Amino acid sequence: MDLKAYECLVRSESAARKYLLGFCWKNQQRFCPECKSRSFIKLNDGRRRCKQCGYTYHDFSGRWINLSRLSPDQWLRIVKLFELEVSARMIAKQTGIAYNTAHRAVTILRMAILAHSEDAKALLSGEIELDESYFGGKRKGKRGRGAAGKVPVFGILSRGSQVFVQVVPDCKAETLLGLTVRKVRRGSIVYTDKYKAYDSLMFCGFRHLAVDHGKYFSSGKVYINGLEGFWSFAKELLIKHHGVSRKFFPLYLKEMEFRYNHRQHRLFDKLCQFLCDFVPDVE
Ligand SMILES: [Zn+2]
Repeated sequence: MDLKAYECLVRSESAARKYLLGFCWKNQQRFCPECKSRSFIKLNDGRRRCKQCGYTYHDFSGRWINLSRLSPDQWLRIVKLFELEVSARMIAKQTGIAYNTAHRAVTILRMAILAHSEDAKALLSGEIELDESYFGGKRKGKRGRGAAGKVPVFGILSRGSQVFVQVVPDCKAETLLGLTVRKVRRGSIVYTDKYKAYDSLMFCGFRHLAVDHGKYFSSGKVYINGLEGFWSFAKELLIKHHGVSRKFFPLYLKEMEFRYNHRQHRLFDKLCQFLCDFVPDVE
């Protein structure tokens, strides 16, 4: 979408609303969010009552977008600024929305991204890189594995394709191998550095090649530069947010995974779609 089209969209609440409704209802076909029935009675206030189960709903009921009272045009402005990696504080300033409201809105966007990342169940395959990195912590202190006060993150990258990252309790062999077995197709070629936690990869059905960072930065195809590229991409992005609390860090991490995996695409429509999806039931 070009700037002109975007400006037309956010200038009127009804245009913004219509745009977002396009992501909610295919062919304008409404159905009950509770039981999926298409038969309803239209109420005087514009809401619908399901004839099947009696649930009363409006156009955004049950969706992420409904977790905030922002108007559709305000939402689109926030989505645009979020796409451009603007922090909540700056979003508040630029839109005139209170900081708490802006912060809540971007948290909703990140939660929608997280919910979506979890249904990407496909296994990674091809040439795979594994690596861990440490995030956060104000003091420089000890670097590398076991850095005190920092959050360990494990990364799996399929070369030329997707990355998967997750906060881990520790970097022990069973933690890292457990995740690898869950996310990577057996038989894949797996590149790591010489960290000994990776030694048993070949016993888990992978073809394992290790690069010695001490000796060479990379030897032929045996390198993990792809993941190192992701780590610096992610850390640079975090700097823009001036310190992220531990509580919110996993959400930021999934945002960075999403941005990396969609680096060739426009994020605006994708984010609008996520925002308009139903919030999954929490068991
Ligand atoms: Zn129903």
